[in-house]
Amino acid sequence: MLGFGSKPRVCIVGAGFAGLNAAQQLKSSKYDVTVIDREPCIEWLPNLHEIISGRKNGEELKLSRKRIMARLGHRFCQNTVVDVSGTSLLLDTGDLIAFDACVIATGGLDDFSGVPGAMQFAYSAKNVAGCQHIAKVMRRATLGHRTLKVSVVGAGVEGVEVLGEALRAYRHRPQLEFQMVDANKQVLSQCAGNLDNAVRRHVDKLSVDFCMGNGVASVEKEGLYLQNGKTLESDLTIWAGDVLPTKQQWGRVSSTFQSHRFESVFVVGGAADMPPILAKEAFHAIDMGRFVAMNVERLLSGKRLKRFDPATKPQVVSFGDLDTFMIFNGFSVSSSMLGAAKEMVYTLGLLQLSPPTNPKDFVNTLDVFQRSMRRVYLPTLNPVSMMGKLTRARLLT
Ligand SMILES: Cc1cc2nc3c(=O)[nH]c(=O)nc-3n(C[C@H](O)[C@H](O)[C@H](O)COP(=O)(O)OP(=O)(O)OC[C@H]3O[C@@H](n4cnc5c(N)ncnc54)[C@H](O)[C@@H]3O)c2cc1C
Repeated sequence: MLGFGSKPRVCIVGAGFAGLNAAQQLKSSKYDVTVIDREPCIEWLPNLHEIISGRKNGEELKLSRKRIMARLGHRFCQNTVVDVSGTSLLLDTGDLIAFDACVIATGGLDDFSGVPGAMQFAYSAKNVAGCQHIAKVMRRATLGHRTLKVSVVGAGVEGVEVLGEALRAYRHRPQLEFQMVDANKQVLSQCAGNLDNAVRRHVDKLSVDFCMGNGVASVEKEGLYLQNGKTLESDLTIWAGDVLPTKQQWGRVSSTFQSHRFESVFVVGGAADMPPILAKEAFHAIDMGRFVAMNVERLLSGKRLKRFDPATKPQVVSFGDLDTFMIFNGFSVSSSMLGAAKEMVYTLGLLQLSPPTNPKDFVNTLDVFQRSMRRVYLPTLNPVSMMGKLTRARLLT
C-alpha cells in the first residue's frame, strides 16, 4: 500500500476541469495531495473543434498535468484507477493508494447509445487526437476530385460547433458535402430561442443536408443506417453525442458531492450523478471542483458539509465564422462578435490553470495572447468591423 507523509491524505482521480480546480484549492502545506489521471495532459475541450478548421493545431490546447501539479506542490501519477473503496484506490498496476478523503472527477462517459458500429467506425471530436484525424481526412479530400461525404451525428452543442468549424474551412470546397443527423427534429433543441432556424438559415446555400427526427440504428464503414430504415452514405462519420454521468455506485452523490456509498469519497463534474441533473458544462465542473475542495477540508476537520448551489451562467456556442450564440435561460443572443468572448475564456482559462512562473513561461503566455489577437480579437473587435457586426446582433426568443 502506497501512502505518503503525515498530513491528511487527499486523492483526486481525474485531472480535468473539476479535478484540477479542486487540486488548486487544496494547499500543499496542509494536505498531502495525489492527483491521478490516465493521460499526461489536460486538453482544453471547449475549443477542440477549432482543430478541424486548422485555427488551432491541438498542441496549444494541451497543458502538462505534471507541470501544473509540480507548481502546486502536489504529486501527479499517470495511472488508471480501476477501483475505489472507502479508504484506498486500486491502480491498474495493482498498487493501492491510501487516502483520508478522495475526490472522483473522472468526467462523463461518451454516449454512443449502444449503437452498433459507432465506436468502431465513427470518429470522436472529444479529444485532440480525434479532431486532428478528422482535420487530416478533410484536408486530404481537398487534394483530389472525389466527393467526401461527412456526417455529423448529433445536432447539440458539440455537433453544431464541429459542423461550423468544418464549414469555416471547407464550405467553398466542392469536394466536401455535409449532413447533420439527429433523432431530434430540431438543431440545438435543448437551447432557447429557436436556434434551429438560425443555424439552417446560415447554411441555406451551402452543401449541407439535415436528416433530422431519426436516430442512427448502426454505423458501417460506408455509411449509416437510420431507425426508419433509410441509409445515408458517409465517408467520414463524426460522433458528436452527449456525455453521460458515470453509472457506478460511487457516482450517486448528494448535493454536498459526498458519495452515497463511502463518506470519505466525493464525486464531482461530469462523473457526478446528482439531482438536479446539471448540464455537462465546463463552468459547472470548475465550480464543483472548487466547492468540493472546501467540503473535503470540512470533512477532514469534522465540520458539517455544505450544499452546492449551482450558478446559472450563459453558454457560448460557436458556429464557425458564421455565427456565435450566447444561450441564457429562456432566450439566446446571436452575434459573430461573441466568438471573441469564447477565445477570451480560452486564453484566460489557460492562464488561470497554468500561470507563468518564470521568463520562459511568460514568453509562452504572450505567444498564446498574440495568436489570439491575430486570429480572433483584431479581426472581430477592430472598430470598423465591430460597427458592422453590432448591427447584426440578434435577440432570439
Ligand atoms: C468536445 C467538447 C466540447 C465542449 N465544449 C464546452 C463548452 O464550449 N463550454 C462548456 O462549458 N463545456 C464544454 N464541454 C463540456 C466540458 O468540457 C465538461 O463538462 C468538462 O470537461 C467536465 O469536466 P470534468 O473534470 O468533470 O471531466 P473531464 O474534463 O472529462 O476530465 C476527466 C478526467 O478524468 C480522467 N479519467 C477518467 N477515468 C479515469 C480513471 N479511471 N483513472 C484515471 N483518470 C481517469 C480522464 O483522463 C480525464 O482527464 C465540452 C466537452 C467536450 C467533450
